[in-house]
Amino acid sequence: MSTLSALARPELATQPVYEPGKPIEDVARELGLAVADITKLASNENPFGPSPLGIAAAQHALTHSELYPDGDCVALRARLAAYWQLSPRAFVVGNGSNEIIELLGHAFLRPGDEVVMGSCAFVVYKLVSLLFGAKPVEVPMRADFAHDLDAMLAAVTAHTRLVFVASPNNPTGRAHSQAELLAFARALPPHVVLCIDEAYAEYLDPAAAPDLCELIAEGRHVICLRTFSKVYGLAGLRIGYGYASEELVGLLNRVRQPFNVNAISQAAARAALDDVDFVARCRRENARGLRQLEVGLAERGVEFVASAANFILLKVGDGVRCFQWMQTQGMIVRPVASYGLPEWIRLTVGTAAQNARFLSLLDEFLAKARS
Ligand SMILES: *Cc1c(COP(=O)(O)O)cnc(C)c1O
Repeated sequence: MSTLSALARPELATQPVYEPGKPIEDVARELGLAVADITKLASNENPFGPSPLGIAAAQHALTHSELYPDGDCVALRARLAAYWQLSPRAFVVGNGSNEIIELLGHAFLRPGDEVVMGSCAFVVYKLVSLLFGAKPVEVPMRADFAHDLDAMLAAVTAHTRLVFVASPNNPTGRAHSQAELLAFARALPPHVVLCIDEAYAEYLDPAAAPDLCELIAEGRHVICLRTFSKVYGLAGLRIGYGYASEELVGLLNRVRQPFNVNAISQAAARAALDDVDFVARCRRENARGLRQLEVGLAERGVEFVASAANFILLKVGDGVRCFQWMQTQGMIVRPVASYGLPEWIRLTVGTAAQNARFLSLLDEFLAKARS
């Protein structure tokens, strides 16, 4: 280890690095393909593009880039308050909801603390835990790939500070009911903060989507995370938010940078919340695409996990090989070996044409694998 590395906090010596889905430009350069010939279904991005209202607002905001952003996101929080029927003080806005996960670490984690999460959970929970010297306690998923909430509750000790549950969960796509989430939150002891990550909640049938606001009203130590990266199609702008008690939001505000969210993103997010038709269309198209993939996979006898989100986990035999071969064909998917699922890949639901292209490539891959 060089002297400089020895000066860094000891956690950094073993800190894993997040591996994002490969950018289209990189794959195009490596394979000598045109960018237009490449389909990326690896990062759960919106195949229907960004919210048009969001983009129009962003373009307008760009012309005032000489000004610092509103450091408290006052206008966006007012809009969120109306949307959720909560106080504006119940919202913290982040540079993506990923930043809020990190803020939870800043606010609550000390070396030696424990963080309870599922064994197939969004990897950022683990990365943030390790960064602050805390111990990720990974609870095995149920046989149906859902979180085992009873086992997660049983894994809570006197050292536990944070618990993460995503619903729908990435990468498994499984969702919990409102009753399950409320009961879990209410059963946790008060020395624990629960983060319910709802990054994909807009893809649920609105009539059946959990309403977790009563946990906030009850003063539970709970924060729910939402993002503009998925159904709103604004992943490149980096903006997400959490809703929680005023006390919890106040703590997170103390550990964030004063201008953590830029003005373009704030404007885009505010307008995107009004883009009700766009969101409804994306939800509808996603449900159709999921059905198309599920039918296609069933016809081929390929095992998959029924998903409530905009991606699907499917069993291809050797996930890394499938990923590598698909990439040579200009199709980027996500291997999930790092989640302990070496035989599976995660596929983002694309447009009907993209889904059909994936299924026909899958036929080729499976035929090659069998021969
Ligand atoms: C995509 C995703 C997010 C969103 O992250 P942003 O930083 O808002 O882009 C959060 N949680 C999970 C589980 C996700 O899959």
